[in-house]
Amino acid sequence: MIQINNVSKWYGSFQVLTDCTTSIKKGEVVVVCGPSGSGKSTLIKTVNALEPFQKGDISVDGISLSDPKTNLPKLRARVGMVFQHFELFPHLSVTENLTLAQIKVLGRSVDEAKARGLKMLERVGLTVHKDKYPGQLSGGQQQRVAIARALSMDPIVMLFDEPTSALDPEMVGEVLDVMVQLAHEGMTMMCVTHEMGFAKKVSHRVIFMDHGKIVEDCTKDDFFGDPDARSVRAKDFLSKIL
Ligand code: ATP
Ligand code: MG
Repeated sequence: MIQINNVSKWYGSFQVLTDCTTSIKKGEVVVVCGPSGSGKSTLIKTVNALEPFQKGDISVDGISLSDPKTNLPKLRARVGMVFQHFELFPHLSVTENLTLAQIKVLGRSVDEAKARGLKMLERVGLTVHKDKYPGQLSGGQQQRVAIARALSMDPIVMLFDEPTSALDPEMVGEVLDVMVQLAHEGMTMMCVTHEMGFAKKVSHRVIFMDHGKIVEDCTKDDFFGDPDARSVRAKDFLSKIL
């Protein structure tokens, strides 16, 4: 579903990604972790073509991001992205947030977009809030709306960048529950998160990044299993967060 081949990226003379290679199969849930500044957000943003890269290639569902013939906005519309800060439109109601891109990008009718959006809102358990504005919702609720909004676009894969790290602790669970449910339904997911409980529960693989490199890319059981089989950096990281 996602193929990342030897991707390198620089910000000026600073190399932020070095020769990153991995792939994510359909239905696979992959957790990306690593120290702050290791390039996790940058990597996930390159997958959605939100960040350009200078070397290597990425393909999503067989479509290469570096092929000049690729329609990037169209491809991006099929890749759901949920960020740390919910990035809902503050001046639009929940329903309007859910329908805007469906209408503008996918060309759906208002009725069709509403039906789809409200179905996804129901899935995250927030139907009663459909007419509220983001500012009237808790952080956890806003993040669930952001997930519903991404799902309304019928994504072929969902990318998450620390979706719970800006939340008060009591709201983390409700967002993780939605993500766990998605994983169980077979959604292909690439999740930057330090929620190792989530990783242990639903991920298939764990990628550990350090200094712009993929240092570990292994099954969940291997990652959390024998610590002596891990790199020194991953071991150190795990000892700090577990
Ligand atoms: P965190 O856990 O703190 O979110 P991260 O692993 O997501 O970190 P990135 O945000 O991908 O890390 O950043 C990787 C490196 O690239 C950092 O050293 C950061 O300072 C640098 N960086 C990120 N964005 C830019 C930019 N627009 N221009 C220059 N350097 C950048
Ligand atoms: Mg980040």
